[in-house]
Amino acid sequence: MQRRAALFLLACIPFFTACAIIPISKSSPPPPPVTLKRAQFLMGTLVELTAVAPGDVIAQAALTAGFQEIRRLENMLSTWIETSELSRVNQAAGLEPIGVSAETFDLLRRALEVAEYTEGGFNIAIGPAVRLWNIPEAPRIPAARELDIAAQYVDHRRIHLDPTRRTVFLEKPGMRIDIGGIGKGFAAEKAAAVMREIGATGGLVAVAGDFRVFGRRADGTAWPIGIQHPREPGKILATLDATDEAVSTSGDYERYFMQDGVRYHHILDPKTLQPARLCQSVTIIAPDATTADALATGVFVMGPVRGLALAERLGLGAVIVDAGGGISISSHARNRVKLSP
Ligand code: AMP
Ligand code: MG
Repeated sequence: MQRRAALFLLACIPFFTACAIIPISKSSPPPPPVTLKRAQFLMGTLVELTAVAPGDVIAQAALTAGFQEIRRLENMLSTWIETSELSRVNQAAGLEPIGVSAETFDLLRRALEVAEYTEGGFNIAIGPAVRLWNIPEAPRIPAARELDIAAQYVDHRRIHLDPTRRTVFLEKPGMRIDIGGIGKGFAAEKAAAVMREIGATGGLVAVAGDFRVFGRRADGTAWPIGIQHPREPGKILATLDATDEAVSTSGDYERYFMQDGVRYHHILDPKTLQPARLCQSVTIIAPDATTADALATGVFVMGPVRGLALAERLGLGAVIVDAGGGISISSHARNRVKLSP
């Protein structure tokens, strides 16, 4: 009996060995990626971050680091915060050059580059006019005389960047930089980089109408991005799938007031200092969010004809809704953008 039991055990050895070996020899499948989302109010708007990561801890850490990065940049760049680098540059207008961080310098350099591309349509020296209109807080149409005075200070060629000393000098007292048209994209770009560094394999940074995505979603698909319809709140005009790129939209529906049936909105034409009248919305698809944000604002001012030509020249995706609601799509975006029925 004992012998039979021993034989039985001996016969089982290969089975037990096999059982013990199988899980080790076959590499165990990686755990499915985790997706976490969080929203916070930063830079005067709702910021939504989504992180895809190999585990909960990394995903949480990526979200926390992404928000921290945006808060850090807000403190450095916001002209609503008196101690920010850009506020100090504005306070020293006409007085002296101000030393700034490499990041602020880089942002201003990029802004001045886009000013050239857009033939002055994008202009961060627009500050005094943005202050006069103060949309939508104080719905009031500034007097022509007030705008004439502001016009003397809205000249981006009088913003002097010295790369050797890394200083910024606004030539005339009264000049004022406004980064409302590029800052959110810049922050989205940096937040995405930080999330990736922490270990997120995919992510989406949404700062109002500025989106930056990297990697893929947990199921391996690209990130679907919806473009808001400029005249039907809550309706999607078009969608596209994005990976490792940025999609920014500038629209006259974001901040505006109506008076006598006319819409007065927050994107100003630097030539007239009146709200730009040639578009309802402009979406730019670009490899990085700083470019997408600044160009969306600049192309909005340029209008559908010159704006589309610029997008073609730069090889970027553009979806432009003109003043009458007509839609034009650049050749780089045509096969990717699906218009809603
Ligand atoms: P966005 O929503 O990115 O198009 O940015 C609009 C914001 O950019 C406005 O609220 C202003 O702060 C600022 N802005 C307005 N007009 C211009 C312009 N022509 N060039 C650059 N920035 C502008
Ligand atoms: Mg913009």
